Amino acid sequence: MTDLHDSDCLHRFDFEHLPIRGLLIHMDASWMALLEHREYPQAVRTILGEAVVASVMLAASVKFDGQLTLQLKGEGPMHLLLAQCTSGLGVRGLARYRSDELPVGEASVQELAGEGNLTVTLESEDLQQRYQGVVPMSGARLATCLEAYFEQSEQLPTRLWLHADEQGVSGMLLQRLPTPKRSEEPDTDVGLEQKVEQQLEDDWQRVQLIADTLKSDELKGLADREILRRLFSEDDLRLFDSVPVYFKCRCSRERVSSMLQALGSEEVQGILAEQGQVEVNCDFCNRAYVFDAVDVAQLFVAATSGLGNQSLH
Ligand SMILES: [Zn+2]
Repeated sequence: MTDLHDSDCLHRFDFEHLPIRGLLIHMDASWMALLEHREYPQAVRTILGEAVVASVMLAASVKFDGQLTLQLKGEGPMHLLLAQCTSGLGVRGLARYRSDELPVGEASVQELAGEGNLTVTLESEDLQQRYQGVVPMSGARLATCLEAYFEQSEQLPTRLWLHADEQGVSGMLLQRLPTPKRSEEPDTDVGLEQKVEQQLEDDWQRVQLIADTLKSDELKGLADREILRRLFSEDDLRLFDSVPVYFKCRCSRERVSSMLQALGSEEVQGILAEQGQVEVNCDFCNRAYVFDAVDVAQLFVAATSGLGNQSLH
């Protein structure tokens, strides 16, 4: 095997003669880093991995500067799943679940998350701009739920193929772009336009059917160039340079301090008295932030003197 598969990167590709674009992504070391401090049961780990690669592909398919959050929230045993990706493709994720209620082995989205919603939120870096799309969770796989999201919120026909296991996560996305308007002239041949539109729709169907033949282990194991060569040798494709994807947690001592200040002096002093120190673990990366008596006193001195909240971000 000379053709090693791509690692921790995202590739964009375009169909030269069709209004279709695509993405291919693989995360290996970055996925291991994301999992490093957390033990997830297999079914939860699989859907978390699918959500993580999907969040990167979503972030890469929209023009924005900030953070994209993909959230699943439901009544099921896995009641919350979050995957967050920045426009620079730094990603983190977590899942919360009641382990005694989880199904054994692999499970569908319904079995894990139950009735609930899939929400995609885009926030600009300065938090001044926010866009949110919500769809009910439908379909057994996350890819199907996301396709419904694209259909309703973005109105761009989009298909996703996702693979996740303990060693790595991979994904492919294909998106049909709006047909370029040919002419606004009144004597435009309507019949010809319809023919062209029908041909493009047939091409989109053909491309999806071919993509459906990609096996999960091929998506996982083959180099991107090889995947595209095997699937779309009949079409002219342009493969762009790869972009690195990495695990990145946004937690910081400043953010934890601000959270403790919001909790209030009385509550935090109570924890301090009981445990001798206040330890907060980041939900995403499990990093521990420890505050001793001196740190806690400082938190609230700063807050009451009015310096605390403004100077944090
Ligand atoms: Zn963290």
